[in-house]
Amino acid sequence: MQENSKSVTMGLFERVKKKIKFRVREGTDLESEILNIIAGPIYLYTILSTWVLLMFEVIPYFYISNRFLHKSFITAVLFEMMGNWLSMMYVSNKFSPGLAQERCVNDTNNSKNSNNGMLLQTEVASVANKQRLYWYWRPCLSCNISRPPRCYHCPMCYTCILKRDHHCFFARTCIGLNNQRHFIVFLVWASLGTTYASLHFIYYFLTVYWSHVSILDVFAPFTLIRWIFGYSSLYLTHTMLTATFLIFFVFLSTTFLINQVELITKGITTFESKVIDRGKIKVTDRRNLNDKIKAVFGSYWALNLLVPLHLKFRPVEDPLNWPSIKIS
Ligand SMILES: [Zn+2]
Ligand SMILES: [Zn+2]
Repeated sequence: MQENSKSVTMGLFERVKKKIKFRVREGTDLESEILNIIAGPIYLYTILSTWVLLMFEVIPYFYISNRFLHKSFITAVLFEMMGNWLSMMYVSNKFSPGLAQERCVNDTNNSKNSNNGMLLQTEVASVANKQRLYWYWRPCLSCNISRPPRCYHCPMCYTCILKRDHHCFFARTCIGLNNQRHFIVFLVWASLGTTYASLHFIYYFLTVYWSHVSILDVFAPFTLIRWIFGYSSLYLTHTMLTATFLIFFVFLSTTFLINQVELITKGITTFESKVIDRGKIKVTDRRNLNDKIKAVFGSYWALNLLVPLHLKFRPVEDPLNWPSIKIS
């Protein structure tokens, strides 16, 4: 009987181990896989519980005459954040060889390389300047295709991403050519909304909770431990966890927003900003600022702040040939 239960446990353990091994895909690691699973639910938990706390506890406490205005504002922010978060997930940046063929037929200027833009092995050998190699088409051994400049394979999305910027764990997808606009608009609203909510939460905590709670409750992990041992309530633990994640999101969204604005003004990607920092390569976009913004948001770019317009106004960009980019 004991032997039998031991073998069942071992079998279960092997199955879990196999599953974990399966989840850790090639080119990534366990930490990234775990982050890819937990970041989205943490985001949803924080945003939704923040909205509920603001709507039914904090705003009614602070405001009487203009309560409706504040409630409308936070609801609008929630809609904008959720709309752009979903758009980030479902607007595809996938590169398909069909796109290259289509562009090749239409684009008569695409005569830089005769083999559909792909650099031949002999040419690779003859190009002494390694910096220039960055700008040629390269093979992707995972997808078995050749991919254009700025297109990279993501081991988490398991596909080649056009103008890959980075993999966003909160949306479980890569930020690239078509969804960078949603990422930036999301950051604008997230930065504004989380700052508004954090300031209200801090003031509310100091006026309502401060005299009733232990100093240890200010730090969410301690509140969690105190709740487990019965020293604080589940509601307080939930409030403190929300507040902690919220303050983390203020820093995260604001930092990313500043970084993305800087990248747009320079016309480069996150990856390029790193190699530029290391002095390896210089990428210059010769367009003016308005055209650089249109390259991300499409025409009438300011409207994107209110409505997702990816279907109507595509990014004004050639993601295969990048004619305005100069590499040195
Ligand atoms: Zn690939
Ligand atoms: Zn990805």
